[in-house]
Amino acid sequence: MDANLAVRATGISKYFGDVIALDRVDLAVVGGRIHGLVGPNGAGKTTLLGLLLGLTVADTGTLEVLGTRVGRALAAPEGVAGFVEGPGLYPALTARQNLAALVSLRGENPRKAGIGEALHDVGLTDVADDRVRGFSLGMRQRLGLAAALLTKPRLLVLDEPANGLDPAGKKHVHGVLTRLAAEGTAVVLSSHRMDDVEALCTEVTILATGQVVFSGPLAELSDENSDLDYRLRTSDPESAREVAARTPGIHLIDVPDPELVVVRTLVPALDDLVVRLVHAGIAVRELAPLVSPLEAAFLALTDQPEATR
Ligand code: ATP
Repeated sequence: MDANLAVRATGISKYFGDVIALDRVDLAVVGGRIHGLVGPNGAGKTTLLGLLLGLTVADTGTLEVLGTRVGRALAAPEGVAGFVEGPGLYPALTARQNLAALVSLRGENPRKAGIGEALHDVGLTDVADDRVRGFSLGMRQRLGLAAALLTKPRLLVLDEPANGLDPAGKKHVHGVLTRLAAEGTAVVLSSHRMDDVEALCTEVTILATGQVVFSGPLAELSDENSDLDYRLRTSDPESAREVAARTPGIHLIDVPDPELVVVRTLVPALDDLVVRLVHAGIAVRELAPLVSPLEAAFLALTDQPEATR
């Protein structure tokens, strides 16, 4: 196994009765990278994360985690931390007591475990001595992440870590994950939020009905699907529409907002359009993809109906 590969899954299949949750899945996760797992509901993301955490075993294929072949035993491989479907916490204990209990269970000294730092990292210092019973979903997610941090994982596995997070919570979580990756930890996370995946991940795997439909660098995905819809706001939308209609390679899309021009095109024709607008004395005030390259690829590769856009 490549020394820097935290995960290498080859031909992994997993059945639940007649349902095939994972269908000959290959996955490579490099140390020090944040790898996003996306796909529609029921695509197999949680099942795959569960395999990495040792919560379930594959029916076929081979899985190597942190250099060790995962066997048939249900146990978290050494150096792996994380959670699926929400962290396991004790509601009657405070946040600090929860972390201390987890540390004690591992036979370590809670005083030396860095509990205060972990709570600070996820932004829970102010509620450290509050009972978890009263915590929101976002606070529980952050406490789950703090618990995982205490084990100093080399592979961190998170199912929908951004679920329920407010903007401040998201900033803390993004900061922690980025720092961990910079220190060499591999992070695998699932998300339905394409903006989060784009902000955090360098690699992405798209699953659809248990099969990998794309796996690789995010940048590659943008290149393959560069024919996008762009929103354009200018100083003179009517004239801009006329210029766009005369520009080769530009397809105008009808939209109800008269102030907005939407064009479907490739990047070179878009560049040409901007130059023509400027020559015509029309100022460009906003130019951005209507949906992100990842979202466009996700919808195309997973066969999502138009109505979901
Ligand atoms: P979501 O985005 O909705 O969380 P997911 O991508 O995480 O979905 P999984 O939860 O991995 O998808 O489920 C994949 C498939 O396996 C689904 O068809 C699901 O119904 C099925 N499945 C998952 N776990 C079980 C189980 N314990 N028993 C039976 N079927 C299961």
